[in-house]
Amino acid sequence: MTSAATKQSALDAFADAAGTDNVRTDPADIARTLRDNSWLSPILKEYVETRRGSDDGESMGVLAVVTPCDEDAVLGVIAAAVKHRIPIVPRGGGTSNFGQTVPVEGGIILDLRGLTGVTDVADGRITARAGTLQGGVDDAARESGQELTILTTTYATATIAGWIAGGHVGLGASQYGTIWDGNVLGARVATAEPTPRIIDLDESNVLPVLHTYGTTGVILDVTMPLVPAEEWDEVVIDAPDLATAGALVRAIATENLPHRVATAQEPVLMDCFRPLRSLELKGAGIMVMIARRAAARLGELCQLHQCTLHPWKQWGETDRPSIGVMVYGHRMLWLKKGYPNAGFLHVYFSPGEEDDQVIALKERFGDAVLVEIKYINSAWLRGLCDLDGPGLLPASVLAVDPGTPELINEVMSFCQELNVNVQNPHTLKLEESGLFPDFEQILEFKREVDPYHLLNPGKIGNATLERQR
Ligand SMILES: Cc1cc2nc3c(=O)[nH]c(=O)nc-3n(C[C@H](O)[C@H](O)[C@H](O)COP(=O)(O)OP(=O)(O)OC[C@H]3O[C@@H](n4cnc5c(N)ncnc54)[C@H](O)[C@@H]3O)c2cc1C
Repeated sequence: MTSAATKQSALDAFADAAGTDNVRTDPADIARTLRDNSWLSPILKEYVETRRGSDDGESMGVLAVVTPCDEDAVLGVIAAAVKHRIPIVPRGGGTSNFGQTVPVEGGIILDLRGLTGVTDVADGRITARAGTLQGGVDDAARESGQELTILTTTYATATIAGWIAGGHVGLGASQYGTIWDGNVLGARVATAEPTPRIIDLDESNVLPVLHTYGTTGVILDVTMPLVPAEEWDEVVIDAPDLATAGALVRAIATENLPHRVATAQEPVLMDCFRPLRSLELKGAGIMVMIARRAAARLGELCQLHQCTLHPWKQWGETDRPSIGVMVYGHRMLWLKKGYPNAGFLHVYFSPGEEDDQVIALKERFGDAVLVEIKYINSAWLRGLCDLDGPGLLPASVLAVDPGTPELINEVMSFCQELNVNVQNPHTLKLEESGLFPDFEQILEFKREVDPYHLLNPGKIGNATLERQR
């Protein structure tokens, strides 16, 4: 328990480092800042509500939100927090949906949105400060005729550091994979030591800060790869049934057509995407973002599979909502409109067996499990499924309705029986997420950068941390 005198001394030190106006302590203001999207998981929602109803109140025991405007101020704030042994929860846009920014042990929220700007654009790479919006980074790349390989669907509000520390896929993952597949070329991170150091990480050693929720250093800037920019067309395809829709999506992926997304939804789900209702689809729906140079081939594939193609819009036009905000993470928001009690499970099917596995899931659970089919080109995710090397992995975010812990657990057990790999998002603990085959190297890096376990505590379990001592 931190004493009142220690808290005041820490607050004074934060104000010295970041400026008085950049240290906010009003509980209502803190509670507003703490909003996130954990409510998407019924299990995490319950945890957050319980915390808010506890003695810690709506501000969940957070002392202050500190928003430094430059790197020196960040280092000063970290030094003050370490001196007073106060937890630090880094935060970007606050869009994460699985509790990544929930302050399990209170402390301060270190809001990195004051650190903005693209610092370097070169052939094939771009560097930006931590708090720069990912969409802004892509805009800067486009000015040089290039673009990011992957965009989180929250690109308009999520920061570049928040994405590499809290997200992992997005538009482009079907071609380029995840953050772990060479899509982060480097990062500079500050340690949580009495005198914070800055460590320069490159592609060969950046792994411990990827999707580790800021537990392994405060990211100051990020370097991402760039590829030549495409002109993207968005189309919606009407398929007679889910099996045909899945086959068409598989053809797009295996022919390696340049596309940012291709995802098949079972027919009953399409009504959830309200902007698309005007298309009056009759069967399963497929949302595709395709490079214009491959549009003709997509038309041929549609004919071959007896599907109907509806042009939707061009990327960047503002006349209609983009399908970019109906897929990946955003898809859950639309499904919640039709299925308010649904919970979600990220699953990976066995390549070549995906159709049979989908049929088995539907036969067992009917409309209590609602399915999409997409493909991700990721050696990392394949490794989690005991598959060697690069290649495509059939993937889905299942909607489980109702998303009660009992039903979610039942679906997870059945998936295990089917040999469908499940990634569990309903936990605050990284080591339980199923995303890390080798957690030891993360622990080893953490030992170096966070000796007092002050960075986002609670996101790595105590038993796991004991192993690093
Ligand atoms: C509607 C919706 C759609 C989504 N779509 C996608 C998607 O397509 N792909 C995807 O991968 N994710 C998706 N997400 C989740 C995703 O994590 C976030 O959208 C985004 O990546 C987080 O960025 P942020 O700036 O909001 O980070 P925050 O939510 O603020 O933080 C995320 C994590 O990173 C840590 N962090 C933030 N900044 C730093 C820093 N500078 N140094 C160290 N740690 C830091 C935080 O402590 C936290 O643990 C979606 C979420 C929602 C709600």
